[in-house]
Amino acid sequence: MSEPTPKTMGQQFGRRSWAEPWKIKMVEPLAVTTREQREKALQEAGYNTFLLKSEDVYIDLLTDSGTSAMSDRQWAGLMLGDEAYAGSRNFYRLEAAIQKVYGYKYIVPTHQGRGAEHLISQAVIKKGQIVPGNMYFTTTRLHQELAGGIFQDVIIDEAHDPANLHPFKGNVDLDKVQAIIDKHGAENIAYISVAGTVNMAGGQPISMANIKALRALCDRYGVKIYLDATRMMENAFFIQQREEGYAEKSIAEIVREFCSYTDAAWMSAKKDNLVNIGGWLAVNDWELFEELRNLVVVYEGLHTYGGLAGRDMEAMAIGIEESVDDQHIRSRVGQVLYLGELLLHWGIPIVQPIGGHAIFLDAKAFYPHLKQVEFPAQTLAAELYLDSGIRSMERGIVSAGRDPKTGDHYYPKLELTRLTIPRRVYTQAHMDVVAEAVKAVYDARESTRGLKMVYEPKYLRFFQARFERL
Ligand SMILES: *Cc1c(COP(=O)(O)O)cnc(C)c1O
Repeated sequence: MSEPTPKTMGQQFGRRSWAEPWKIKMVEPLAVTTREQREKALQEAGYNTFLLKSEDVYIDLLTDSGTSAMSDRQWAGLMLGDEAYAGSRNFYRLEAAIQKVYGYKYIVPTHQGRGAEHLISQAVIKKGQIVPGNMYFTTTRLHQELAGGIFQDVIIDEAHDPANLHPFKGNVDLDKVQAIIDKHGAENIAYISVAGTVNMAGGQPISMANIKALRALCDRYGVKIYLDATRMMENAFFIQQREEGYAEKSIAEIVREFCSYTDAAWMSAKKDNLVNIGGWLAVNDWELFEELRNLVVVYEGLHTYGGLAGRDMEAMAIGIEESVDDQHIRSRVGQVLYLGELLLHWGIPIVQPIGGHAIFLDAKAFYPHLKQVEFPAQTLAAELYLDSGIRSMERGIVSAGRDPKTGDHYYPKLELTRLTIPRRVYTQAHMDVVAEAVKAVYDARESTRGLKMVYEPKYLRFFQARFERL
């Protein structure tokens, strides 16, 4: 294939300067703190960035979920909320936007992504069925398991290697799918769970060729393909940049084509769709739609609002139209690439290729002198906050938790600190500040000491654990 390598991708941004395709109409002042203040705030937060108060944070890269900036059109749309209990006009606007952009027939709104995952898992999965997927996502897999499904990872092996430069590390390994069909029979597969840009693999895309081939394989056995469309726009951008035959196609065309190879989708609109809350389900099968419409009234709300206010659906409809704009997505992913390439230029170890929504710092390579039980990624997140008030997230041994059988920590291969970029919130100047902060922390790496855990909650400990300096 004649795809540019990920390394050269960002150069198109380097040849001539580029800028964010929006200007700022309203500002939210940021807290600029002193090192002394940050030292105090971090101690009070037990060296855990989840426990920091937002007002003590300067640049907040904890997550891109629900943190997007809405446009003036979206804010204006809030005023058009039709808060009727049934048949709100904003629902029909949302339905039309999803049909147009993603191409599915029937739409069910939900309060956020996991609401949609809950409904579709309950509607489709029979106890004991296998759900093959291109790597798991936390809430997705949990809902599949709660419905009695058994998740099996079918992503290509390259996805598990942070240094592998494969341009489509989100691809499904068709041999792994075939093996599951051969072993268990197609009737024991609930559906194939495909995610556009795989979050847990570092925001890595799946190619059009791969989804087409998967469609052909599944058609032979009558197996359905359902899409986690949460970051599908970012995936479409990577197809446009890297896959032969797509350079001249618009993001809108690529998204429509990709979705046409799938049977249904669920969505966390808090990501790609540029709203602070919302989600949806979209299917082509009438009977499945009827079942989902039955379930939504039990768990979310009436099928024309699904747990959302009318105004939220209006903002989402507008956000969907904006999210598919080529200039928007080029700038969104371009900002991530810009930051990543600055760091690479300085020799700072990050997961490659650079993904669509975040930079993952390799904390093991940062702090080779720290043992994994001294929490290198947690330490790195703490040091970054101390240096500049930048908030990041640990994705390493703390997030991995403990083995319930032995009581020992899980020791994940990847010990990462994630810098997640919210959409349309920060400028390139903020990216420069972030890169310089990471470099400062990197330069001081040899004298950095690790942490010890002094409080550990029983479940999902990374949210509330507390630490002290060693
Ligand atoms: C965030 C996310 C979800 C869950 O959506 P929520 O809106 O947080 O409930 C599902 N899948 C992926 C890939 C996500 O990133």
